Amino acid sequence: MVIHTYGHGRTYEMEALLKLFRPAEKFTFSTEPEPPAEGEYFSAVLLPETDGQRLSCAVKIGGESRSSGKILLADIPNNILDREISGLSYPLFCELTDIQPAWGMLTGIRPVNLLRKFSERTGSIEQAKDDFRNIWRVTEEKTQLAAEILEVQQPILNAAPKDSVAIYVSIPFCPTRCKYCSFVSNSVSQMGRLVDDYYVCLAKEIGLVGRIVEEYGLTVDSIYIGGGTPTAIDLYQPLDWLHANFVCGQPLREYTIEAGRPDTITRESIGFFRQFGVTRISVNPQSFQDDVLKAAGRPHTAQDAVDKFYLARELGFDNINMDFIAGLPADTVEGFRESIDRAVGLDPESITVHCLSLKKAADFYQSLSMPDAEAVAEMVDYAQKTLTAAGYRPYYLYRQKNMAANLENVGYAKPGFESAYNVMMMDDSQTILGIGAGASTKVLGGRRGIERLTECKYPYDYLARFDELMQEKERQLRALLGGAQ
Ligand code: SF4
Repeated sequence: MVIHTYGHGRTYEMEALLKLFRPAEKFTFSTEPEPPAEGEYFSAVLLPETDGQRLSCAVKIGGESRSSGKILLADIPNNILDREISGLSYPLFCELTDIQPAWGMLTGIRPVNLLRKFSERTGSIEQAKDDFRNIWRVTEEKTQLAAEILEVQQPILNAAPKDSVAIYVSIPFCPTRCKYCSFVSNSVSQMGRLVDDYYVCLAKEIGLVGRIVEEYGLTVDSIYIGGGTPTAIDLYQPLDWLHANFVCGQPLREYTIEAGRPDTITRESIGFFRQFGVTRISVNPQSFQDDVLKAAGRPHTAQDAVDKFYLARELGFDNINMDFIAGLPADTVEGFRESIDRAVGLDPESITVHCLSLKKAADFYQSLSMPDAEAVAEMVDYAQKTLTAAGYRPYYLYRQKNMAANLENVGYAKPGFESAYNVMMMDDSQTILGIGAGASTKVLGGRRGIERLTECKYPYDYLARFDELMQEKERQLRALLGGAQ
């Protein structure tokens, strides 16, 4: 399909809207005065008129076309123009495709934050929910889901100490690469030679951030070690350094390790997680169907995940998360239901349900059968009903671009076991100090409300440019946290 713009440059925003209806498609672009004569297109033209400007939107799909237009003020900001384009085009797409996206016209990844903003602006959650339903065309079900999450999050947000920070440590290695992976992660079998150098740099960066935390009197609220699969490498030393810099003397609310792949978890590693103060681990089956795991390139069985879950329990972990993915190729609604039922039977404190990112699925699974959007919606719906009935509450949610069925990832937890890191991070209400390749740092305050530091995604670059990166990081952090020294 062609995205046609004339008289403005809102191509990116139009593409985001179009992806609600054509999530896995690649588009072409045109800036000619007229939309293309042949084929499908999504067109938005803005032309000056005597008392303003005329916005004309048109959509052509499968040989049928619809159009709509309105007069706008002469000088409107881009965000209003985006909203006007969406408002005119969205009903045209719904009519021509017969698709009603569950999140309506919302294209952003954090609908709960948006509902909070609407609620603060209008002073009424009911008004905010009405706006969600009536202006943004969000379904009743998703509006209620976002409102429930907002309510569950509030005490967690309120409990954060003032000026506190979270520490995020990135370990961008995995034992092997899953076929659907959309992260920057390197298989240890191919990139293992980098690991020793990575330890050296990690130690230095933990030391640098530790000094900053101490000098600026920052309170560490949570630590999260993610990846990749952190347990793909020996974490004993990094945990020791983190303990010395961020655990001792800090009122930590939570300390999570993303253990991820069950094939990387050992009795020994879980033992020293406990020793160094880790309070929460994530053991991620993704599916309890062995054929689905095999098709996804995960070299472990459902039983391995169950065994590692019980091992973590035996060694004293009373806060365990399990991740699942709806929409994996070779999975079925029935298979996914069985996975969720089996997870509920294990009784972990939290369960996170992701929807597959279609971009990667398209790259890797062209030859495999993908569950369709309706099936993924059914899976997600089953998870929500089953987990809620079992005493879990949804507590955080985010969407990604190219998600199966344009749905969402939702974290469910038993009351009191919601991950504070996930809530604070998703709400952008706490400074996050990232450490390691691919870890992003964001600092609250400053002109834009939140400042993001340059990050280096790839381990090779991180190692090669380490000294330069650390000098720049220290300079930026000192400037943002209260004046350069
Ligand atoms: S475990 Fe996660 S990060 Fe690692 S390869 Fe698989 S999907 Fe990617």
